[in-house]
Amino acid sequence: MVTQFKENESERARKLDGARVAEEIKREAAEDVARLKSAYGVTPRLVVVRVGDDPASAVYVRNKVRLCEELGLGSEHVALPAETTTAELLEVVESLNRRDEVDGVLVQLPLPKGVDESRIIEAIDPSKDVDGFHPINVGRMMLRQPSLLPCTPAGIVELLVREGVEIAGARVCVVGRSNIVGRPVAELLLQRDATVTICHSRTRRIAEVTREADILIVAVGRASFIRAEHVRAGATVVDVGMNKLTDEDEVRDFFGDEAGKRLKAVRERGFTLVGDVHPLQVGAVAGRLTPVPGGVGLLTVAMLMRNTIQAARLRRGIEEERKKGKG
Ligand code: NAP
Repeated sequence: MVTQFKENESERARKLDGARVAEEIKREAAEDVARLKSAYGVTPRLVVVRVGDDPASAVYVRNKVRLCEELGLGSEHVALPAETTTAELLEVVESLNRRDEVDGVLVQLPLPKGVDESRIIEAIDPSKDVDGFHPINVGRMMLRQPSLLPCTPAGIVELLVREGVEIAGARVCVVGRSNIVGRPVAELLLQRDATVTICHSRTRRIAEVTREADILIVAVGRASFIRAEHVRAGATVVDVGMNKLTDEDEVRDFFGDEAGKRLKAVRERGFTLVGDVHPLQVGAVAGRLTPVPGGVGLLTVAMLMRNTIQAARLRRGIEEERKKGKG
């Protein structure tokens, strides 16, 4: 089957507005923090631990700490040298576990080679595991028990719900089966009554599978992996990928007439950030599409704030909960 391109610009996919939804979640988080402070004298506190000097990690951590400050949460940034051993990092994590005023402990991944990532994640007190990666929280999620949910998958669900995309009964295809995105997002959508298929690197004739989807979620880590032939006309497409594009010809191919700003970024800082979905091709076929940047990435950090607030409530036995209508 050949998917027909839509003929003109007005028929391009509507944007699934991650920025708008992230702002909404942040506004609610700020209200929740203010209420926790005034009603209970509690200020949720997040500690982010970073090991080594990877510049991308440094930016992510700075953004998290800055957002805490903006919303009124307490925050700390612990920066450790690249030579930090597993034992030393375990000690740091354990000391944060012991500090009662700390509600969330996040160790920024990836860790340098040689540090045992699983041991570190498992050492975080599950009640402070605001990334939702601890096996106890993963298990609780699978059993549909209350838990701290992983931020990116929970953010994707929030985006779909708040943008009015019908999940119950929909055919969902998730491309990618990682522990942090593919598997948990598939599970969360299954819990919302979608019929879910997961594709991965061993899937045969992948386009035949992805074209069945009403909602296609892509978390592969390869620029332009999903093209027009993978998408059913009118489908909702969520692009989780974050890839650096450096080649100007590729940028033109990706963005056509709208490549100007992207080319400027490549010339000025060496790259432009793109997802796993070819924006021009898929934009012409899909009904709705998340932009990159401005889509899922913004939600991930907003959901981290929400998890930190939730951890503060759960750890302190505070029952109040934001009207759950949306998320
Ligand atoms: P990952 O752990 O590398 O997993 C990639 C998945 O893609 C794997 O399951 C792999 O299959 C599958 N895959 C690779 N090549 C494929 C192929 N040719 N056909 C079908 N499937 C293929 O990546 P991840 O951590 O899930 O991240 C995926 C992307 O999302 C990355 O670009 C990452 O930067 C981005 N991301 C964004 C956010 C955000 O906040 N926006 C958060 C997390 C991740 P196998 O299992 O068979 O190897």
